[in-house]
Amino acid sequence: MPPTVLIVEDETKLRDLIRSFLEREGITVLSAATGAEALALASHSEPDLVVLDLGLPDISGLDLVTELRRGSDVRVLILTAMSSEEDRIRGLELGADDYVTKPFSPRELTLRVQAMLRRGRGPDEGSHQRSFGNGLLEIDDDQHEVRVRGVPISLSRTEWGLLNELARTPGRVYSRYELVNAVRGYEWGGYERVIDSHVKNLRRKLGEDSAHPQIIETVLGIGYRLMPRRDGS
Ligand code: CA
Repeated sequence: MPPTVLIVEDETKLRDLIRSFLEREGITVLSAATGAEALALASHSEPDLVVLDLGLPDISGLDLVTELRRGSDVRVLILTAMSSEEDRIRGLELGADDYVTKPFSPRELTLRVQAMLRRGRGPDEGSHQRSFGNGLLEIDDDQHEVRVRGVPISLSRTEWGLLNELARTPGRVYSRYELVNAVRGYEWGGYERVIDSHVKNLRRKLGEDSAHPQIIETVLGIGYRLMPRRDGS
């Protein structure tokens, strides 16, 4: 089945341009000009990915990110003005997976969309169930579930990707640059705050005390590592 992408953009010309580029790649495209339309389409059609312009006429694009994230792991790519760094960061904190700033080349946007669609497919590497820190953290690939002290928590795709990357080699320090490439699947001129905000979300979901993290440690000036040793290894 071809992947389905929902474009949410109130500027007709831009919406049609994105649509034609994505359709050329065999992607099924749905489109909405308002937040209300987008929510209705997203719940009925369950797209694989949403391309979301943050500047919408009826509701705030950031509120829409929150709504889309509620009970869904749909991938979200936000479109933001070059100048609005705060919106971008906020959008990522709310659970968007990636962003593109306006003005952008439609070809670049298409490549990003394709990379994001690829990331969400196929099984993850490694064994099916991994336990770290005497059961503090469990990653269950079969169930696509992460548990902290036995309690399942829900992660966005990007958070899942980050945690899995860190868990490939517990104790090894991963640079932000490595983590960006691991979760996005392409090279990307490092935007460190983006990884930082994803790690912040991930830690909150893992129930970490930010002053004394037990699972993900910050290595100053470099990046992050998963602290606990894998049980029995
Ligand atoms: Ca707009």
